[in-house]
Amino acid sequence: MSQPEALIRISEIFGPTIQGEGHLIGQPTVFVRTGGCDFRCDWCDTRYAVEPQFKDQWIAMTTAQVLQRILSLARAPILVTLSGGNPALQPLGDLISRGKQAGYHFSIETQGSVARDWFNLLDTLVLSPKPPSSGMNNDWNKVEQCIEMAGNADIQFKIVVADDEDFEFARELNQRYPKIPLSLQACNPQPESDSSVTQILQQQRWLTEKVCQEGWYQARVLPQLHALLWGNQRGV
Ligand code: SF4
Repeated sequence: MSQPEALIRISEIFGPTIQGEGHLIGQPTVFVRTGGCDFRCDWCDTRYAVEPQFKDQWIAMTTAQVLQRILSLARAPILVTLSGGNPALQPLGDLISRGKQAGYHFSIETQGSVARDWFNLLDTLVLSPKPPSSGMNNDWNKVEQCIEMAGNADIQFKIVVADDEDFEFARELNQRYPKIPLSLQACNPQPESDSSVTQILQQQRWLTEKVCQEGWYQARVLPQLHALLWGNQRGV
């Protein structure tokens, strides 16, 4: 008897919009946001894709249904960003493989706590180990496994920085993995409510000045572009 198809737990699928974070910033993309996460970061800005009380808003979809939704949103090949929650918890290998056959590109954003053999199908693996201000601990063996599983995919680090301690965390990570491009992202001060553009820019200025003062010239400091454009609104 054949096994039933594993379903993908979806929080939302939306786009095309632009990628607002990391090295792919500004690139048009469709977001597939999965539901469920093994972390609980203090400043998580997508609790609706993390906390069990939002489970009734998540939908279990087949690969074909997710793919169909992507194709209906973007009829020409586009970058598909797999995000969450932690998308590595979901069975996404078949989606990536079938989407790539149709000419679409795939990037995933994950904290690096779960390594999957299908990471090697990705175009880009964005790893966001969590800094001290998140209140989380990273399993560095798992992060290492994620890097190994990525094969020839582009790998990038994206680190949220809220304070000096986070800054040191990012710098040490960069020293440990000097060949993996790393972007720094100022922590969104009030993701639960609506951080004002002024607050977001203040954080961004602080981080920019710190990078320059500390002489970290390999760093790339990027804002959350979507937050500047639309505040902490969902689905953009
Ligand atoms: S890993 Fe990401 S999605 Fe999960 S709790 Fe942390 S910030 Fe939220």
